Amino acid sequence: MMNKRIYLDHGATTPIRSEVFEEMTPYLQGNFGNPSSIHSFGRDARKAVEDAREQVGQAIGAYSDEILFTSGGTEADNLAIQGVAEKLKDKGKHIITSQIEHHAVLDTCEAMEKKGYEVTYLPVDNNGLLDPNNLKEAIRKDTILITIMHANNEVGTIQPIAELAKIAKEHDIVFHSDAVQTVGSIPVNVDELAVDLLSLSAHKMYGPKGIGALYIRKGTKLDKIFHGGAQERKIRPGTENVAGIVGLGKAISLAVSELELKSKKITALRDRLIKELTSIEDTQLNGHPEKRLPGNVNVSFEYIEGESLLLNLDMKGIAASSGSACTSGSLDPSHVLMAMGLSHQTAHGSLRLTLGKDNTEEEIEYVLEAIPEVINRLREMSSLWKGKEANYS
Ligand SMILES: *Cc1c(COP(=O)(O)O)cnc(C)c1O
Repeated sequence: MMNKRIYLDHGATTPIRSEVFEEMTPYLQGNFGNPSSIHSFGRDARKAVEDAREQVGQAIGAYSDEILFTSGGTEADNLAIQGVAEKLKDKGKHIITSQIEHHAVLDTCEAMEKKGYEVTYLPVDNNGLLDPNNLKEAIRKDTILITIMHANNEVGTIQPIAELAKIAKEHDIVFHSDAVQTVGSIPVNVDELAVDLLSLSAHKMYGPKGIGALYIRKGTKLDKIFHGGAQERKIRPGTENVAGIVGLGKAISLAVSELELKSKKITALRDRLIKELTSIEDTQLNGHPEKRLPGNVNVSFEYIEGESLLLNLDMKGIAASSGSACTSGSLDPSHVLMAMGLSHQTAHGSLRLTLGKDNTEEEIEYVLEAIPEVINRLREMSSLWKGKEANYS
């Protein structure tokens, strides 16, 4: 009986680590005050929120008053894009992004198009990398916002954000980056990256779901997208998710303090997976070979249907994904793999394994036995594969 369960889907979400959980629980029980209240319950909650703001700021090299708490990465992306677009609409209505953004950015940009904005979706190369020259060429007089993700959630490719943001600055254009995949995983410093706005999310770094933050550089102006109370500098109304905020603060400071050590270990496991998986016949690596998230493995197996591969791996206790968790379930191939120029067939045979801090060498050992076995079995059943074999003989 299979009783092992191996989680290799940290790009989709991570568990709340115990140190974070312990930090949060008082704020779900005894310390339940509303941070806006004057009494001691309120003041305790306010202190917790402001301490966490300090932790988040410190983790990314920002001042604490540049951190605005949101309900997660998706809301942070929406607030950045809609907020800037609305604020600067008299200056221009052109936005630049990339074809491989997370749907939180892509769908928001598409919604802005319906509202009369124009959006340029920059292409990427075969490795998922943007060319800064393409950005330069796309800039117009009426460009008001550039939004490019730091690292891609599906293929792990890390973009040259500092270089791209510098181009934006030269043209006095606001630059936003969705850094949900990088904060806590690789060094992220808002000054080194030279971004004006940056999104992050707790549940991708061992914090709770439903809490994130938008970094807003001093002087960057944006309109609110929700209406209500005066919380979060009157930009993001609603009673604060105090326990979530405390969890985010703890998670991000732990992640950043352990980053170097963990990333070394995770990178070693990643490289072993990539090396051995790509040695399987008719298998390719998706994403950049070096400029890549420490925990991301994305490979395509020809003559394999990603969905059946996932189901078969799940039966062996291995949790992985094909494309991104948000898009699996639909039969459309991943927009990211399509933008990278993969054929439909190759995109459909993709497998994403995203490693976390607690994955072990033994687990990887097991996975490296299980995957070739499943691939062989599925290929044996595939008429395309048999046809290919026949052609060789
Ligand atoms: C997970 C993710 C998001 C969405 O964050 P939520 O907190 O789940 O809303 C946005 N962008 C990227 C790159 C992500 O990986």
